[in-house]
Amino acid sequence: MEKYLSQLNDAQLAPTLQKDGPMIVIAGAGSGKTRVLTYRIAYLMSQGVDSFNILALTFTNKAAKEMKGRIAEIVGDGEAKNLWMGTFHSVFAKILRFEGHHLGFPSNFTIYDTQDSQKLLGSIIKEMGLDKDVYKTKQVYSRISSYKNNLITVKAYFKNPELIEADTAARRPRMGEIYKNYVDRCFKAGAMDFDDLLLRTNELLTRFPNVLAQYQNKFRYILVDEYQDTNHSQYLIVRALSDRFQNICVVGDDAQSIYAFRGANINNILNFQKDYDDVKVYRLEQNYRSTKNIVGAANSVIEHNKTKLDKVVWTANTEGEKIKVHRSLTDGDEGRFVASTIWETKMNQHLPNSDFAVLYRTNAQSRAIEDALRKRDIPYRIYGGLSFYQRKEIKDVTAYLRLVLNPADEEALKRVINYPARGIGQTTVDRLVVAANGYGKSIFEVLQNIDNIDIDINNGTKNKLKDFVTLIESYQVMNQTANAFELTEHVTKSSGLIREVNKDGTPEGQVRLENVEELLNGIKDFVEGQIELADAGDSLAEFLEDVALATDLDADKGNPDHVALMTIHLAKGLEFSHVFIVGMEEDLFPSAMSMNTRSELEEERRLFYVALTRAEKQAYLTYTLSRYRWGKLIDAEPSRFIEEIDDQYLDVITPLNDVRQNPMLSADIFGDVEPNRIRFKKPVKRKSETSKAPKFVAPKNLKRVSKSSPSDNTNLFDGKLTVGNIVEHARFGKGEVIKIEGKGADVKAEINFEVGGVKKLLLRFAKLDVL
Ligand code: ATP
Ligand code: MG
Repeated sequence: MEKYLSQLNDAQLAPTLQKDGPMIVIAGAGSGKTRVLTYRIAYLMSQGVDSFNILALTFTNKAAKEMKGRIAEIVGDGEAKNLWMGTFHSVFAKILRFEGHHLGFPSNFTIYDTQDSQKLLGSIIKEMGLDKDVYKTKQVYSRISSYKNNLITVKAYFKNPELIEADTAARRPRMGEIYKNYVDRCFKAGAMDFDDLLLRTNELLTRFPNVLAQYQNKFRYILVDEYQDTNHSQYLIVRALSDRFQNICVVGDDAQSIYAFRGANINNILNFQKDYDDVKVYRLEQNYRSTKNIVGAANSVIEHNKTKLDKVVWTANTEGEKIKVHRSLTDGDEGRFVASTIWETKMNQHLPNSDFAVLYRTNAQSRAIEDALRKRDIPYRIYGGLSFYQRKEIKDVTAYLRLVLNPADEEALKRVINYPARGIGQTTVDRLVVAANGYGKSIFEVLQNIDNIDIDINNGTKNKLKDFVTLIESYQVMNQTANAFELTEHVTKSSGLIREVNKDGTPEGQVRLENVEELLNGIKDFVEGQIELADAGDSLAEFLEDVALATDLDADKGNPDHVALMTIHLAKGLEFSHVFIVGMEEDLFPSAMSMNTRSELEEERRLFYVALTRAEKQAYLTYTLSRYRWGKLIDAEPSRFIEEIDDQYLDVITPLNDVRQNPMLSADIFGDVEPNRIRFKKPVKRKSETSKAPKFVAPKNLKRVSKSSPSDNTNLFDGKLTVGNIVEHARFGKGEVIKIEGKGADVKAEINFEVGGVKKLLLRFAKLDVL
């Protein structure tokens, strides 16, 4: 037996060694599903399966890269290279490059990213004269996305009275028209959006049986990771491709299905056995990732879900530390707790930063964590923000490159036709769009024929437009002979882009300049890696495709030893030694928007299960008593999910002497005070029970002092503020002044706040409003 197979247990070996036929591995987190998939590919190759005949679909490009790397270690670089491995989007974008012509797309079609799509929708909504507050681009975009992922084409939409009714009921009766215009415009621009990559693949495989047969033959072995999060469109592609040989292996965990809100269909995994004949079902039960405490806690949480497959997850790993629960006063305190704990643990245990991850429900929560980490000089990286390639200056450069390959690309053209400024105004662009729509041509074609068409643009502007066409055409000529790096370098200089970024002169401008340089470096690397493969034209096309599908999870930039900050959704499949799950509060996690139905709440719970099971050694759950949300300070209460964890796995750490009763310990006033720790037996209680501090009660016969503006504090330390005054603080809300001390600029007031209890504030800094 091959040596690497000894790194699998018996339960993992069984699916690894089953060479043919349909199979599903359903197993809990950390039980080695991804490992089975990886080793199975190596095993298939050792059994004589040609690497060209294997297709593996992963959830992220990063996962594909790691898997390929591991396989290369086992079978050698050369063979691993030929594997088709990647996300659904990247794999099928490649196939559409070869086959898109059947559907009328050029091989160099552009991929519109979300930003491009939303911009195009914005223009369409405007052109149709619709109210942009009713037809919000983001909502319209996600609606269209859900049609596409359910294979509802424009034609199908108009045949479906229920959909039309639903959109009409949502006050968007013209959704269908927008959808139609959007699809037409993408087509005319030679562009596909993310969802098209799946929708058009389905169309291709359905309408062209020869093409289907060709790819069925090619992909004799298909493997899919994270199968629980496939959507309908992805499901149909996998079914079609695997239909002939039925060598399909999917792995997943129904308890980790967390993308229903984006169209993932948990039934794909639940119904897999019905889709193929003689499906072998495998279960893995041993978790290798986490300690007993973490596995036990995660099991106790997911127990609360009604809809689930019965599964056992256990581990032979050590007991480990209990899950630490920490309460703080504000999100600032929470950030400081996270940063100081990371710092301490790192020092005490000599750990790298990369052993730590901070996971949150919403991106907005990262700010407080970032601030605290920065103060401690702990390197961190936020995943899931704008990818490098979505930054403005980078999109500007790539828009030129997109135009070179596909001059019909409307969004790219609109982006750079007057950037850097060439005196071509918005009115001109609007007229060009109208003309292009009228003639059924791309804007670029209209520009090329500007002298021969009927359009209300003066000669001066026409000349500027012609210059622009000449510029792009000169790049196209250069692209025949130069490689992508040479071309890009030339484009950034000759278009005036570099000059534009340079002239800014601000520190931000400097960063943008560095980003453009970084892009050039990236293209250089890419070209060098491609030299033996492609000619210059292809290298540009491939580079742009990578760019369009890149997420910032893929980029390995900057200091690799950093703390990872990301949303829980993004953390799926990953693992970290120490994991902080922050913002464990009702209405935040579970999210207020996901508590209307049992199935929504169960998806939130699965999300929590995913979060908890990322941790190998130690998990922390933190919550605060108050948090800024939507610009307001909100009273928070601990998440029900904390209570759902069996007590035996929890260790509640809370500052000694409740901070709310002891202003000396409030980090908001005195900075980083590392609280002593104390353990309570029964820790987490609902809001009503947790407030031990005397609750603020507005005194009767309240005498109102004239209201001053919050920034106008000068009057506060010349004696106007007195004990008994009711004040309002920008962060802590209402409170009663209970003591005043000090003189002049040092006047401090002790205030008993509704939220957070007693605090001592230096009036010089405090933003107080006397009520
Ligand atoms: P998730 O559900 O989170 O995606 P998973 O089921 O895919 O998890 P893996 O990521 O494959 O699990 O494995 C979890 C961890 O356990 C990895 O670090 C992996 O290398 C390790 N592991 C898996 N199987 C074994 C084994 N037989 N022996 C030692 N380590 C293992
Ligand atoms: Mg996995």
